[in-house]
Amino acid sequence: MKQTLVMATHNAGKLAAMQKAFADFPFEIQSITDFTDKIPEETGTTFEENSLIKARTAFHLTGMPSVADDSGLSIDALGGAPGVYAADLATEEDGTRNYPKAFELLKHQLGEEDKTARFVGVIAYVDRDVEKLIRAETVGVVDFSSYIHLDKETFGYDPIFIPEGDTRTYAQMGAEEKATYSHRSKAINLLKVWLLERL
Ligand code: IMP
Repeated sequence: MKQTLVMATHNAGKLAAMQKAFADFPFEIQSITDFTDKIPEETGTTFEENSLIKARTAFHLTGMPSVADDSGLSIDALGGAPGVYAADLATEEDGTRNYPKAFELLKHQLGEEDKTARFVGVIAYVDRDVEKLIRAETVGVVDFSSYIHLDKETFGYDPIFIPEGDTRTYAQMGAEEKATYSHRSKAINLLKVWLLERL
């Protein structure tokens, strides 16, 4: 029988990706939204803190093993910014997202400095007897030269990130291709390995 793993996200895309990754696994991924509408506030200043806040909330509400993730883009020369504030930096006062504005701001702040950046993803797992943090990174560079020419809808910082080993931004790749580099896929795979060891 499959064991239930609650995922503390209100993002249908993240839930679907997790369910797909766990399809061949002895775990059934269930959304926190099946239990509550409350979204815990991400008051932490690190990916670890924010993912733990969400996973702990889910565990306390459901009593079942719970996971949550938190991620963002960190630019080395900017001391890791925007980091956990990646979404905030692109959010207008009315709540809408304006990524081109965030790109211009970062471009200005970075100037001629080193362009090394990394997508960081942390997954927190919380159960009765354990709290586990899993961190994955994808290193690359930020490149501000091509985002204005993009004519398709893109996700977050995909238009300005080129992973190491490639010459294209995430936005110029297909979803499957991006997944071969992605911090999210790496973190999910590490979680699967760790969960198998625990069984
Ligand atoms: P979350 O914690 O996974 O919701 O990510 C927070 C923010 O980081 C997102 O709203 C995006 O702005 C950015 N982000 C995280 N992962 C990615 C990615 O794979 N591509 C582009 N932007 C990302």
